[in-house]
Amino acid sequence: MKQLFLVTTILCLAACSRAETIADAADTPQAEPAVTAAAEAPAKPNITSQDLGGGFYMLLGPGGNIGVSTGADGVYMIDDKFARFGQEIIDVVASLTDEPISYVLNTHHHGDHSGANAEMKAVGATVVAHDNVRTRMGMTYMNQAFGRQQDARDAALWPTLTFSDEMTLWFNGDEVRAIHTPAGHTDGDTIVHFVGANIVHLGDNFFRGMLPFVDVDSGGTIQGMIKAQQIAYDLSDENTKVIPGHGPLSTKAELGESIKRLQAIHDRVKARKDAGESLQAIIAADPLADMTELEGFMKKPNVITATWRSLGGDF
Ligand SMILES: [Zn+2]
Repeated sequence: MKQLFLVTTILCLAACSRAETIADAADTPQAEPAVTAAAEAPAKPNITSQDLGGGFYMLLGPGGNIGVSTGADGVYMIDDKFARFGQEIIDVVASLTDEPISYVLNTHHHGDHSGANAEMKAVGATVVAHDNVRTRMGMTYMNQAFGRQQDARDAALWPTLTFSDEMTLWFNGDEVRAIHTPAGHTDGDTIVHFVGANIVHLGDNFFRGMLPFVDVDSGGTIQGMIKAQQIAYDLSDENTKVIPGHGPLSTKAELGESIKRLQAIHDRVKARKDAGESLQAIIAADPLADMTELEGFMKKPNVITATWRSLGGDF
């Protein structure tokens, strides 16, 4: 028993940090065992910042990418990763500005984007999100794709300021638009557009360089994800800094490539489904063979299944 525990612990040390780069275990499938990962130096910081100019930063590290606006009005933060990195995030922000964290917006309810909400509230932040983020956090529901129950989250994590469609915060001299995009990654997604800074944060409606994660069990559809990316594309120009939910800083051109890819996934699965093929037959036919190199957190069968379900297919 002790040996089993030890093996599990070692595997977790190797694999868990990788798993957590996308989402918490409650929301997502188990990551593949990363047996090749070497032990990291303990002094290495988990959270690092990338200066985007004009008082704006992107915080990288395990969990979803964080956007940080700093200025005279304080800090407006987009997403907050996991609870256990809460203090480290606060410390990194304190190294960038003397102003307090005033607002944290959750782009959706997943635990790798909202996990440190309680820690942010404790330092005075107001947590903002779409209405459905608060609803989802209070729900216990079945995640069929991953075959396990999603338990309701602690009420300390729930957003306290919610909106149904759009919200604009005039902050640090910028117009910051929070735009709800329905039924994409989940049913509570928000794109955040810093109009003056020319920065857009897409949350998990955009994984840069990876196959998409459509969380159908949380109300997501691939059609909605395509629309969300199109909205962000249309409000961007060639100078826009595009922050994906996961992956490095991106551009309008890369977003355009992503839209084409999502549309191709949709069209290929739909054509086969309309022709009467079963889900199993479509997976076996490997219609995404040219996208194998984009497999990471999501594998081709996961993506085909989510697309099939988005098209109303039984699962
Ligand atoms: Zn997510």
